[in-house]
Amino acid sequence: MYSGFSASIPPGQENLNELPFSYRVERRKRVTRRLHLALDDDGELLAVVPRHVGDAAVHRLLVKNVATVERYLRRAQARRPPPLEWHDGSMHLFTGRTLPLQLRAQRGRARETEFTDQHIAVYSHQLDEDSVRRTLRAGYLAQARRLFAQRVDTIRAGADWTRGLKIELKLQRMKRTWGTCSSKGVIRLNTHLVKAPPQCLDYVIAHELCHLQVMNHGPEFYRLQDALYPGWQDVRTHLREHGRRYTRD
Ligand SMILES: [Zn+2]
Repeated sequence: MYSGFSASIPPGQENLNELPFSYRVERRKRVTRRLHLALDDDGELLAVVPRHVGDAAVHRLLVKNVATVERYLRRAQARRPPPLEWHDGSMHLFTGRTLPLQLRAQRGRARETEFTDQHIAVYSHQLDEDSVRRTLRAGYLAQARRLFAQRVDTIRAGADWTRGLKIELKLQRMKRTWGTCSSKGVIRLNTHLVKAPPQCLDYVIAHELCHLQVMNHGPEFYRLQDALYPGWQDVRTHLREHGRRYTRD
């Protein structure tokens, strides 16, 4: 029926629902806060919410907090590290240090990397950006293999509940998990940790070792973790704030 009256939203009001930025909604299983802001790898805003929060609710939350979101965006974008490049002299991370890449042409030998306190060297007959990128990835993995098992052995020496236990260590490149632990004694560590300061690796190992004794995050778990790795809170904060720098490639 046409009554002659418009049923649409009064002029001006529809603008209330428009936001001065674009965003993408990402639902994650283990998010406790209603809304968590993040930037994706392209610098776009991610509204991270628990599984059960619908699109309309996300939008309402963003509208309600538009000033906070804009402040977050300004700060996050200013803090964003420059994009990674794989040229001679490009800066890359290793054990918390930012080191220049040195590309060294080499005939007839397999691709190799060398990690020192001063630089990361890539020896190869292929020094185009894509090849260097792949060689560097393989180099990080090799370094992780060398370092991680050693650190697990060192840290488990202080965890008497692991005495006599068979721990299987697996390494995996992961986007947002630093480590996992199964009741069968499999500890999986994110190879990207090789780029972070050494205490990050140690903290993640200690955390997973504690899970071999207590599978949840209850008070008993934190008692163990406090004893095995005092000061872990600072490391966790560091990983929360800077973690994205380590998982970029
Ligand atoms: Zn845990």
